[in-house]
Amino acid sequence: MSNLEDLYREIILDHYRSPRNSGELETPPAHKAEGFNPLCGDEIVVYLLMGDDDTIADLKIGGQGCSISQSSASMMSAAVKGKTIDEARKVMRSFKGLMSIAEAGEDLAEPTTAEIRELGDLAALRGVVKFPTRIKCATLSWNTLEQAMTEMGSDTA
Ligand code: ZN
Repeated sequence: MSNLEDLYREIILDHYRSPRNSGELETPPAHKAEGFNPLCGDEIVVYLLMGDDDTIADLKIGGQGCSISQSSASMMSAAVKGKTIDEARKVMRSFKGLMSIAEAGEDLAEPTTAEIRELGDLAALRGVVKFPTRIKCATLSWNTLEQAMTEMGSDTA
């Protein structure tokens, strides 16, 4: 298992050192949402540009914080770019299932093997569940993305 943990650590560090989709987008037309994790001091800014058919045409990530929050944001951006809102929410549910943060009233099933494969690099963050105080670091960018999607009124669920 230690080899796998080493691999996970490498993936996390790679995203932290070379964040994907880092930067800003002009608002409007892009939507902007800001998230803050007071437990750790992490800040995430999500810029979301929608294309046709509810597709995430582009997104950029700003902010600063610990390696978990920043690498998770980078992985998220790579995972949802080009996807529809529904598809992005599906990945979000899988990731939150992985993080085992089933909240009261929220029906979150354990992710299947196929879903974990679909998560790709995001699966590297599963080690975080051993450190409950860091789970908010890992989920901050997703909650900020959710905020951006909700605020622009595209709740198609
Ligand atoms: Zn953090």
